[in-house]
Amino acid sequence: MRRDRHAKIVATVGPASRRPDVLRQLSDSGVDVFRLNFSHGSHQDHAEVYAAIRALEAESGRPIGILQDLQGPKIRIGTVRDGEIIIPRGTNVRFVPDGSGGGSEAIPLPHAEVFSTIAVGHRLLLDDGRLLLHVTGCGDDFIDAYVEVGGPLSNRKGVNLPDTPLEVSPLTDKDRVDLAFGLELGVDWVALSFVQRPADILEARDLIGDRAGLMAKIEKPSALTRIDEIVALSDAVMVARGDLGVEIAPQDVPALQKELVRACRLTGKPVVIATQMLDSMVQSPAPTRAEASDVATAIYDGADAVMLSAESAIGNYPVEAVTMMDRIIAHTESHRTYRSIITALQPELEPTAPHALSAAAGNVAGAISAACIVAFSSSGTTTKRIARGRPEVPILGITPSTKIARQLALLWGTHSVHSTDVGSYDEMVERAKDHAVAEGFAGPRDKIVIIAGIPFGESGSTNNLRVATI
Ligand code: PGA
Ligand code: MN
Repeated sequence: MRRDRHAKIVATVGPASRRPDVLRQLSDSGVDVFRLNFSHGSHQDHAEVYAAIRALEAESGRPIGILQDLQGPKIRIGTVRDGEIIIPRGTNVRFVPDGSGGGSEAIPLPHAEVFSTIAVGHRLLLDDGRLLLHVTGCGDDFIDAYVEVGGPLSNRKGVNLPDTPLEVSPLTDKDRVDLAFGLELGVDWVALSFVQRPADILEARDLIGDRAGLMAKIEKPSALTRIDEIVALSDAVMVARGDLGVEIAPQDVPALQKELVRACRLTGKPVVIATQMLDSMVQSPAPTRAEASDVATAIYDGADAVMLSAESAIGNYPVEAVTMMDRIIAHTESHRTYRSIITALQPELEPTAPHALSAAAGNVAGAISAACIVAFSSSGTTTKRIARGRPEVPILGITPSTKIARQLALLWGTHSVHSTDVGSYDEMVERAKDHAVAEGFAGPRDKIVIIAGIPFGESGSTNNLRVATI
């Protein structure tokens, strides 16, 4: 089974999609990586979904990526009187650190770290930005705020603090328990929510090691000040436009998306564009044309993957949403405008043999109209370097590691294949041809480009480029 496109699809699993038969339909319709959202669901739920996806994978023989998304230090109000209160515009309200407001007028905000760092003038956004307040006074046990945009506020609604850098670990106690559970299951990627600083990535890396790829979710303005370091320390990045879009103005999201994708493409880090891409498909079997255009924009930006959240997790049309995303990607990529736009950005070549050869593989394959590039790479590093150049020709990434094969499912233009190590040069050529034919990329007399490091199995030794004919 090969996909007819370069960019990949990540789909969030939830009540609408967790049944094994629906997971199969989603996979068949185009999902490359499934996201398990640990903001919802029990460990039992996630373990069942994990097992169902691995069963599908075994059946199809194609590596499927599984991304564990940790909730992170999401701030929420506590419970309010009668479950919902109205906070009228133009009034002043008080927040207090106790868990429950009971009958009092103050709104509980059970996060001590907010009270110690918030300052007069900072903004408080409640309920996905629907309500906007400005801090007029604060102390260790109170925050007074003026309501600029008011409305109803119900229990446990989210709070965004775009102006307040918080002294919190990116991993809550719940995240640590969830992470240990996810790594034990065998997830391929772990997404870290509300990353604020490079040290956050280091803290998570300490716990994860190389057991999974580490994806930084960019959803706090404070992450933007040291974004290059955050990208450098991460294995992948998610442009998490849901929370990010609450904390920054709508008009700032498009350019920031371009900047983040660019930073990732230049350093060869896979980048995922997330949230609200086909949002109306939660309710409707067809997207708005503006949504179709949003997906296409991410494809023209050169993102590695686009993501479905509510559409596939709780929507009425999860399979239709994946099918539609698949179609938009394929059509965009086959349009005559695509190549020139996507290749306008070219990463600077680092002066080493592995970098130069990876770039050469893409150029040679394009020049001779090869059927595919076959990359032998145990760590996936060479495969990522080739994908970074966004070559015209599909990449067949061969690795002896199941985990790396699954991680590469996220990577632009890459069809990953799990296969045992090769022992000799001749075996490498034969194996490359066999896979290129078996996976449906090449036929008789087609040319393929093979890239590898010799001696085999030694990482960082990429030194060989070969053109072979089937
Ligand atoms: P979430 O992250 O769905 O876990 O909130 C994505 C986003 O904020 O865009
Ligand atoms: Mn988020």
